[in-house]
Amino acid sequence: MDSQRAGAVHGTAEVIILGAGPAGLVLGNILRAAGVDCVILERAARADLGTRARAGFLAANTVRVLDRHDLSDGLRRHGQPHSTCEFRTDGGRFRLDYASLGRGEGHTVYPQQYLVADLLAHYEGAGGRIRFAAEALAVRDADAGRTPPSVTVRTGDGDPVRWQGRYVAGCDGRHGAARRSIPPGAVRRHRIDLGVSWLGLLAEAPPSLDAVGYAVHSRGFAGHMARTAQVTRYYLQCARGTAAVDRSDAQLWDELELRMRAADHGPLHRGRFLQRAVFDLESDVLEPLRHGSLFLAGDAASLLSPSAAKGANLAVLEAELLADALFAALRHGSTDALDGYSARALTHVRQAQRFSQWMIRLLHDVPDLAPATDTVPTTVSDSGDRSEPSPYHTPLQRRPCLDTLRTSRAEQDWFAEQYVGV
Ligand code: FAD
Repeated sequence: MDSQRAGAVHGTAEVIILGAGPAGLVLGNILRAAGVDCVILERAARADLGTRARAGFLAANTVRVLDRHDLSDGLRRHGQPHSTCEFRTDGGRFRLDYASLGRGEGHTVYPQQYLVADLLAHYEGAGGRIRFAAEALAVRDADAGRTPPSVTVRTGDGDPVRWQGRYVAGCDGRHGAARRSIPPGAVRRHRIDLGVSWLGLLAEAPPSLDAVGYAVHSRGFAGHMARTAQVTRYYLQCARGTAAVDRSDAQLWDELELRMRAADHGPLHRGRFLQRAVFDLESDVLEPLRHGSLFLAGDAASLLSPSAAKGANLAVLEAELLADALFAALRHGSTDALDGYSARALTHVRQAQRFSQWMIRLLHDVPDLAPATDTVPTTVSDSGDRSEPSPYHTPLQRRPCLDTLRTSRAEQDWFAEQYVGV
């Protein structure tokens, strides 16, 4: 049997949601509370879902969205307010209390896996339907006019089954079935390789400073971000192709201390690394975020580098936009908001992307992005061909000087607004 095809309809829902990350679970919760019949199909087993440590810095607007839908209990109880970042260079260090600048807003630090666990508990507690170990293989008939869309799903060793709905929400990340199911040429893909790689480390160790730490060093960037009282995330810029396991924990701590100038500013709290992963900083945005009755949200719509901590925040924002639009279409017969969803979401994506890239230039030497004359980096198409300048990439100014950020109140206000905003 063709693994992408399945016969009889196994289940139906008004909205089929692929993926139970922040995007899928926020969408599911809002739709469920509004009385919309939906089902979430999640590839992972239940036990694995709440264990994936990724994001931690939630913007004020994200907290407002979660508040609005009564989804913020856990983060209100256990999240930590955060408002300071510290830059370290060979010229010394300076701190910005960004919550007292710009719009006067800070972050709430709450690990993504805890948020996912809260959202899942809330969804299931309200009677929401979810299937674990249910891997979507393909979305079919999204653009087939009168034929409703369906999703073929692998649920075990048997033949794939088929779910049918009015709409499908692709919240299954960059490598999920939603993106894969869009026929070539149906949407544009703006992919920019930023030429920088980071080794992301999760340390079983308390934070070493009461701020996000950004160290600019001739050996490369190093970063420090609190997660909980016992766990801290670190980043080390590394060469392309570096293996995550090629150095011992002690060697990595030595390198972190060197780049973060521990000799001048105090040692780091060391501990075992719980997680190591190398990722290339790139952005990968589709346009529009729709193919017929299939809509994309979160990383499935736009993957941004974690340089400015925007991904989970965009995922929550987009989930709310999409939920409102689906509700209007299903309950009031008005598709205006659905028709406008992609443009609205992409406005936020563009802003977040611009700031992420600004941060990358601030913290790294990025020759390709910082040419002598300002040029617009080009979109790399799927085939790897160079194509037209990307509209998601405004011309980048020259590398902004950390000195300006240290001394100019106007620059600091702008930074604070962009840093916390989505
Ligand atoms: P995901 O969280 O990836 O969820 C997608 C879900 O879909 C998963 O559960 C997956 O199992 C499931 N799935 C995949 N394929 C299928 C399929 N075929 N069928 C069914 N289910 C499927 N963002 C921030 O805002 N702040 C931060 O501080 C931050 N820090 C980060 C640090 C790191 C190291 C990384 C890697 C990312 C960070 N991000 C941060 C980005 C953030 O984690 C992501 O943007 C966020 O997880 C996106 O949520 P999502 O729901 O779109 O996708």
